[in-house]
Amino acid sequence: MKKVYLIISAYNEEENLVVLNTGLHEELNKIYFEDYELVFVNDGSRDQTLQILKDLQKSDSHITIINQSKNFGHEMAMTAGLNYVAQHNKENEFAVLFMDADLQHPPAMAAKMIQKWHEGYKLILTQRVDNEDKGLKYRILGNTYYKLLNFLSDVKIPRNMPDFRLLDKKYVIWINQLNETDRMFRGMLSLVGLQDALILEFKAPKRFAGTSKYNFLKLYKLAIDSVIQFSVKPLRLATLLGFFGCFSSILFLAFSIYQSYINHEPKTGFLTLLSVMIFFCSLIMLFLGILGEYIGRIHIEVKNRPLYFNEIIKNED
Ligand code: UDP
Ligand code: MG
Repeated sequence: MKKVYLIISAYNEEENLVVLNTGLHEELNKIYFEDYELVFVNDGSRDQTLQILKDLQKSDSHITIINQSKNFGHEMAMTAGLNYVAQHNKENEFAVLFMDADLQHPPAMAAKMIQKWHEGYKLILTQRVDNEDKGLKYRILGNTYYKLLNFLSDVKIPRNMPDFRLLDKKYVIWINQLNETDRMFRGMLSLVGLQDALILEFKAPKRFAGTSKYNFLKLYKLAIDSVIQFSVKPLRLATLLGFFGCFSSILFLAFSIYQSYINHEPKTGFLTLLSVMIFFCSLIMLFLGILGEYIGRIHIEVKNRPLYFNEIIKNED
């Protein structure tokens, strides 16, 4: 028995769900395969998302709702979906497909990915070729963002690779062995290994309705997360700069001694002193901050709290 679980995270997506659900059924019925389940994760939405999902579920036994007790974020929504599948599947063979609820991940593309899985591919990733939603400024910013990120982090985080991907059972089991509290799917997949991945290109349309939930603060958090969770490079950089500062101050000291006692032209300069002090003090603050980021994560990780709270709502007929 083969089955595909589509995990769809939705946070305030009331206007998109009906269209998405119809589109998915249409596309999935075009291709042949045994069974599928639409696992909608309601990530603490404040609009009618949950009610609409419940209404859809009444006449549709393919739908399972995972209702998060509050908004835990997209990464946790995906994790909740994955854990549900890992605990509830009864199939020998299954795959998990992650997609967004705003129709930026087209149902037709999802069907294509499932077909590829049937052809034997175990990990299918997607790449956006042309995102109509984002302007030139965003693209330049994005490029710099990813360059910096990939320089600082030990795992490669590819550009333009959305969370629209299909994982065979094998990968689901592997990913589930990573039980860190701080989660980032792209990074975790890189840890597992992407060599065997099939990459399909697709054109991402504009979000069908509603607004994007990613703002500057979230992108900042994502950047810090992806660097700190997968690498200790920032700490190493701090040490390196510390060495450099130490070495240059010894040189400066030697130079000052030489000027005062041998050349008899003592160096004065309050401003130089002040600026050097400010520079190094702020450097210390910066690196205390970086250190704090790591320690904070240790603090959260050792508490080992549950990642989220939710209830699973099934169609009982
Ligand atoms: N999402 C979520 N929880 C959140 C934020 C977003 O489940 O806290 C879902 C959202 O409903 C959507 C997907 O994650 O289905 C991607 O979010 P969005 O479309 O806002 O991101 P963008 O496409 O703009 O990067
Ligand atoms: Mg979107």
